[in-house]
Amino acid sequence: MTFSLNDPDLFRQTAFLGGDWKTSTSGKSLTVDNPSTGEVIGTIPACTAEETGAAIESAQVAQAKWRRSSSAERAALLMAWYQLMLDHTEDLAQIMTMEQGKPLVEAKGEVTYAASFLKWFAAEAEHVQGEALVPTPDRRVIILKEPVGVTAAITPWNFPLAMITRKCAPALAAGCSMVLKPSELTPYSALALAVLAERAGLPKGLLSVVTGYAQDIGPTLTASPIIRKLSFTGSTKVGSLLMRQSADTVKKLSLELGGNAPLIVFDDADLSVAVSGTMMSKFRNAGQTCVCANRVYVQSGIHDAFLDRLAAKVARLNIGDGFDPQVQIGPLINDAAVAKVKEHVEDALAKGGRVIGKPLEIRGRFVSPVLLADVTAEMKIAQEETFGPILPVFRFEYENDAVEQANATPFGLASYFFTNDISRAWRVGEALDFGMVGLNTGSVSMVSAPFGGVKQSGLGREGGSLGLEEFLEVKSFHIGLPAA
Ligand code: NAP
Repeated sequence: MTFSLNDPDLFRQTAFLGGDWKTSTSGKSLTVDNPSTGEVIGTIPACTAEETGAAIESAQVAQAKWRRSSSAERAALLMAWYQLMLDHTEDLAQIMTMEQGKPLVEAKGEVTYAASFLKWFAAEAEHVQGEALVPTPDRRVIILKEPVGVTAAITPWNFPLAMITRKCAPALAAGCSMVLKPSELTPYSALALAVLAERAGLPKGLLSVVTGYAQDIGPTLTASPIIRKLSFTGSTKVGSLLMRQSADTVKKLSLELGGNAPLIVFDDADLSVAVSGTMMSKFRNAGQTCVCANRVYVQSGIHDAFLDRLAAKVARLNIGDGFDPQVQIGPLINDAAVAKVKEHVEDALAKGGRVIGKPLEIRGRFVSPVLLADVTAEMKIAQEETFGPILPVFRFEYENDAVEQANATPFGLASYFFTNDISRAWRVGEALDFGMVGLNTGSVSMVSAPFGGVKQSGLGREGGSLGLEEFLEVKSFHIGLPAA
């Protein structure tokens, strides 16, 4: 291990099962590596189906008590946890950069963003409201909002903290418990978060972090009748598999799945706003975000000037180890991710695409940013999420064509467009078939706004006040009032 933490106790190589830190009875473990160097950081237990089942049972016991806690008590736990996250920002960021690779400054930004969900839902916990109806003189109906119960979460590697707090903060605020399976690629951030939860006063069993192989843990979570809801962030392929697996027990589902975000630049856009918005959207986390601009459509009148400005910015990006403060582009997560990027670039070049600036360079898991022009809908890069630092630019003439091409995907997570024409802003904003639309900005994620997609990008919303609703059930309580 080459990192040094102020608080080494945050780095745990054991799972957090029912409130205890444990190795697995399987005796098996997985290694976790640093994507920058390929060096092994440590191991994690390969938890079994039985251990997952025991964590679910602990969550059931804990939830029966937690659902009767006051909203102020839930808020206090979340606020204590929030403060501990902020107090340990440096260590949490180091753990994240070590296992995920993103530049340390981005990792610190993610710690703050992840913590913001704890604070937001602490406040939301105190605002769960029902309704009272008086439908007839002899009837009153009280509409109660109750916790869903025991829940499960499965989270990805690209945002190892934020994708967890975005789920467990509303779950705990609503009075639910949670069994979490983080990605095997980035388990240490999740385990550090659990250490802080425990220090904040987390009741035993209310949150478990089950580490190991998805195929051992996932089916136990989906088959369990105790688990009433599954919240998943990851690929559409795995999301639809989990949906099928959850059918037998008719679970509530929140699915935050893949995207293929379009970004449209119109002739009337402010060029520098469009260029910086594109850079922000595309290159964060080396292009490994679900809301990354994956297809950039530029109107012909601004096309060449936009490419020139973009090429100058792309040329200034530094690639390297996320611990180097000069670096903006860290490594990709694994060799499969590198292979996919290479395949997309080669396919685009074979079909008539043109590199502007430096060609693709690959060194280990470091992939250089590439700006591609003359991209067309037939190329793989137009159809699939690339999840890497490749920026493909399509040229278009007419607004209708751009919107039609932008919508021509089975995905519907994020979209962006740049214009200074107010009528066009409304027209295009309403025509884009996506859960999130950014106008003159390259960012659509913040704690107060609902985050989520339509079509094959998923079901449900996280963040905002809707994020809490996902963990609440509605009960209609009918009260008869016999005539006096
Ligand atoms: P992934 O392969 O679907 O993995 C996501 C999670 O699912 C990981 O914890 C993974 O475990 C687990 N998993 C994999 N196979 C499973 C199975 N058969 N049963 C149960 N769990 C299983 O996705 P990823 O490659 O980590 O993440 C990238 C994808 O996530 C992209 O498509 C991206 O767009 C999407 N994403 C969406 C959002 C959003 O909010 N909409 C946010 C971030 C990412 P292991 O890693 O341990 O195998």
